[in-house]
Amino acid sequence: GKIITSEDVHLYYGEKEALHGINLDFTEHEITALIGPSGCGKSTYLRCLNRMNDLIPNVTITGSIKLQDQDIYAPGVDIVKLRKRVGMVFQQPNPFPFSVYENVAYGLRLAGERDKHVLDDRIETSLKQAAIWDEVKDHLYDNALSFSGGQQQRICVARVLAVQPDVVLLDEPTSALDPISSAKIEDTLLNIRHEYTVIIVTHNMQQASRISDRTAFLLNGNLVEYDKTEKMFINP
Ligand code: ADP
Ligand code: ADP
Repeated sequence: GKIITSEDVHLYYGEKEALHGINLDFTEHEITALIGPSGCGKSTYLRCLNRMNDLIPNVTITGSIKLQDQDIYAPGVDIVKLRKRVGMVFQQPNPFPFSVYENVAYGLRLAGERDKHVLDDRIETSLKQAAIWDEVKDHLYDNALSFSGGQQQRICVARVLAVQPDVVLLDEPTSALDPISSAKIEDTLLNIRHEYTVIIVTHNMQQASRISDRTAFLLNGNLVEYDKTEKMFINP
């Protein structure tokens, strides 16, 4: 079924309209790629899905975005809970400056988890899902910043997965990485989509065609095409 439904989403930075009425819904357990030229509104739209734009001054958003049946912009929505259900991975790896273990434990501890066995278990599972376990299992108490960029990004993916969100958003997650780390992130996304719903912003068409089930193409703040990826990348 549909997990996120957005209707007629407009977003203004001050007077400037960056999204011109986006109607887009996302299917559970699929990977959807958001593509389009730089500045077309991909990141802006992605940030609407977990209310990250609320942090930017002078932003106005109209329209509706529902996560299952809940309007995420309704008054009284708990944004911390929302961000647990809709996690985000950024372009630049941004682990917290403490141990790998505590990075991945972070959301679970915030949620009140105290049981060491539960924490150990979730941390191992998440690091395995993010294809980084073998590289960090003997260094769980090392500072996450001591690892390479590609490793840090996979730790960040594990940090998001640890709280078992419904939806994982990723904003150009591989554009700062080496090819091997990029491939590992792609494999991770293909593996986790059976459990999660994945929405990825990418400027890399090959990446979109390799991993996504559906592709949405944005241009100047408009959704201009949205279809199954296999139909969008057919050679004429
Ligand atoms: P993309 O992710 O497709 O590169 P963005 O969503 O980053 O596009 O940007 C869409 C448009 O909104 C661009 O014109 C960009 O300059 C503008 N924009 C993005 N963020 C802000 C902001 N915080 N304040 C003002 N304008 C912004
Ligand atoms: P991307 O293309 O990956 O979306 P950008 O390099 O366009 O990222 O933007 C990086 C950051 O700067 C984003 O957080 C975005 O919101 C902000 N930004 C982009 N354009 C503007 C702008 N015109 N005014 C203010 N902030 C902006």
